[in-house]
Amino acid sequence: PVRVRFAPSPTGPLHIGGVRTALFNYLFAKKHNGVFYLRIEDTDQTRFVPGAEAYIFEALEWLGIAPDETVGKNEKFGPYRQSERKAMYKQYADELIEKGWAYYAFDTAEKLDELRKKAESEGKTFIYNHTVREQLDNSLTVSREKIEERIANGEHFVVRFKTPVNELLELQDIIRGTIKFDTNLLDDKVLFKSDGMPTYHLANIVDDHLMETSHVIRGEEWLPSLPLHHLLYKAFEWEAPEFAHLPLILKPIGNGKLSKRDGDKMGFPVFPLEWKTEEGTSMGYRENGFFPEAVVNFLALLGWNDGTEQEIFSLEELVQKFDLGRIHKAGAKFDPEKNKWFNHQYLQKQSDENLAASFKKIVEKKGISTALDLTKVVSLIKERAHFVNEFWDLSDYFFEAPTSYDEKATKNWKEETPSLMQQVISELEKIEDFTSVNIETLLKEWMTTNEIGMGKVMQPLRLSLVGALKGPHLFDIIEMIGKAETIKRIEKAIA
Ligand code: GLU
Repeated sequence: PVRVRFAPSPTGPLHIGGVRTALFNYLFAKKHNGVFYLRIEDTDQTRFVPGAEAYIFEALEWLGIAPDETVGKNEKFGPYRQSERKAMYKQYADELIEKGWAYYAFDTAEKLDELRKKAESEGKTFIYNHTVREQLDNSLTVSREKIEERIANGEHFVVRFKTPVNELLELQDIIRGTIKFDTNLLDDKVLFKSDGMPTYHLANIVDDHLMETSHVIRGEEWLPSLPLHHLLYKAFEWEAPEFAHLPLILKPIGNGKLSKRDGDKMGFPVFPLEWKTEEGTSMGYRENGFFPEAVVNFLALLGWNDGTEQEIFSLEELVQKFDLGRIHKAGAKFDPEKNKWFNHQYLQKQSDENLAASFKKIVEKKGISTALDLTKVVSLIKERAHFVNEFWDLSDYFFEAPTSYDEKATKNWKEETPSLMQQVISELEKIEDFTSVNIETLLKEWMTTNEIGMGKVMQPLRLSLVGALKGPHLFDIIEMIGKAETIKRIEKAIA
């Protein structure tokens, strides 16, 4: 059975890249009638950030991709917070030492620094491999009694993995195929520390095993850890899950990974929800007026497509069509403009009533009380909007008479315009049933009969009512504003 996990570390707000990892796990689980669980990887307590965990849950909830099992929810293999599993990791570290796959090391920070500097001065990158460990102070070079004595004395130690020498690993990744790793280039990573906490590597493998994980779907930045993780499964004699490393999400412009700074510079969010700290507030997709469905949709297409030109997918459709085999290896460019386009598409799908309800709040906040039918206003302007929060600027003239007229449009205002507008007023006064169609029929008849060019009337009229040459169908605007207000605005414009 498929059991996949999202395993964030609560070290800050969940980045949009993390959300994509969660989404792909969610889609894969649902597609295969499996389980999507969430485990909090908080073993590195120096990096713990209050609020980050709650943020993760809230973000996934908002997006509609909440896990089936997690902290406080169907805790089948609980606890789901690694800090609460602390006591169980030591036996696994011990097991590896027992089997000869790991060792105690007492290296001081100074000693490691010295070795690093030495390697650098020779133009090499420091690798903590077999040649290094043979020269150092650890349970491979010191007698067992001595080791036990030192540990009993409270000396600081770490448990390191004993990477095999001279092996070429050929590992499988669902997205990348066979990948080769030379074990001589791997560090003997720390697995456990004397404060009783495991590191990410040990805790992650132990928990993926105990929680019966079938597939590990995670970001490409974890690919360098694959050989160690593979060797850990081998050392424990456990069956390894299958692995899929998702392509990087790239900056909109230039090269490299998308970062928070790109968002700040270009004015788009890189977080699902707003995140506040003393240094300031980072924007969130939610607060910027994105629909969760739009965010899910654009994230799904970062590195995946269904092989057709289709771009709009509901969550259900994504579940049906998702396929790890169709994920690309190459990085996926993040396109903030395209993301807005997605929101525009989802905005069009919303009912006018729903949109009007959101818009009502904005209008009320401005302290404006209006008799206008907001559902109708919304229906006239929504095709021009990407976000509900643009509605006011697209429709302010319905609520308030223009206080100024667009300079660029005044060339449409000619000598004969005031008298023409006066005639328009007389025509409008004749209309009983003040509907868009009636207004259009009557004004057009009047123009044809009197051989008056359309442009001579329509543009100045629009300018009088709107203040600029923008907005929807002019006769819809007139109907919406109503007879009295329309006449008032024309009179003001010609005064
Ligand atoms: N805790 C790791 C992270 O923060 C999980 C990596 C993995 O999925 O193995 O991304």
